[in-house]
Amino acid sequence: MSRAGRQRAARRLAVLCAAALLLTACGQPAEEETRHRFTAMGTLVDVSIWGAQPLEAEAAAREVEALFVTLHAAWDPWGDGALGTVNRALAAGEAIRPDPDLGVLLDEAAALTETTGGLFDPAIGALVRLWGFSDDESRPVAPPPAGEIAARLAATAPLPELLVDGVVQGPPGAQLDLGGFLKGVAVQRGIELLQARGIEHAIVNAGGDLRAIGRRGERAWRIGIRAARDNTIVAALEVADGEAVFTSGDYERYFDYEGRHYHHILDPRTGYPTRGIASVTVVHGDAALADAGATALLVAGPEDWPRMAETLGLDRVLVVFEDGAIELTGALEPRIWFTDEEQGRRARVRPLP
Ligand code: ADP
Ligand code: MG
Repeated sequence: MSRAGRQRAARRLAVLCAAALLLTACGQPAEEETRHRFTAMGTLVDVSIWGAQPLEAEAAAREVEALFVTLHAAWDPWGDGALGTVNRALAAGEAIRPDPDLGVLLDEAAALTETTGGLFDPAIGALVRLWGFSDDESRPVAPPPAGEIAARLAATAPLPELLVDGVVQGPPGAQLDLGGFLKGVAVQRGIELLQARGIEHAIVNAGGDLRAIGRRGERAWRIGIRAARDNTIVAALEVADGEAVFTSGDYERYFDYEGRHYHHILDPRTGYPTRGIASVTVVHGDAALADAGATALLVAGPEDWPRMAETLGLDRVLVVFEDGAIELTGALEPRIWFTDEEQGRRARVRPLP
């Protein structure tokens, strides 16, 4: 073929491809995955969409990105948004009715504080800040003085006591931090947004915490569970339509000081980081409950996590202990593939009470 002939052929091919693209864009859904990545809420977020027209999938994923950015600003405890406004009012000893969207969230969070007997409690914001875990950028180097921890603990009250008939008011030492819950709410809403745009098969994955709908073509969505101290993938799981998978771990934000490990999930009874469990993974249809539940089970600890799981209605749970031992519920066991077969053999099914 002459050079001009080759160019003509290439042009014809380009026109054909454009026509084909147009067909997938306007006609049949594409048999392919569209992925959109962004950073929000201090983590890398991946939106994967299967079987939708690529242009529509991309546009919907960008809407999810905008949603995450908006929610992060609104619910930053120390920023100019709705939650920051509530915290400033609390500090000034004033009563405040939060913006309606935040109000709904606080009601849900307060209900969870009740159900968990205070193990999940967003009213420990001042303590999280004292420990230095409220800042995405910097990492603390040493624990705060014991006297200050006790003082912050005494200066706050559980969330349900601060929230009466939709109005927030409390001691000036009380500050709210929704960090144990927010990613779950954002992921849940992200998926709902995609569904409202007619998307049936997708995953919204915020740094390993995710919710899936539909399937990836012929098979279910497959994900890795990142758990334990070294942050490796311990197991793989096929996620069913509508399931969320959330992990809380003691390695997300932490520091080691004089041979001890200190991390960002605090026991509201003591004001200190929890001990005994390295990570908890919860699988549930409601991403917000999975997120808060994973945090609460970590606080409940090695002995009590099954009782707390039962109370919260969580039946698919995987727990990795500080020493590497693994326990999981009977409902999750048949669905998990362990990366390390030996570790898998040693994993123990723990019955719920
Ligand atoms: P991550 O989002 O880092 O994966 P979590 O979902 O467990 O982990 O959330 C941890 C965050 O929750 C902390 O950074 C803090 O803001 C907040 N938090 C810590 N301890 C508690 C607790 N006992 N109850 C409610 N929120 C907590
Ligand atoms: Mg959580």
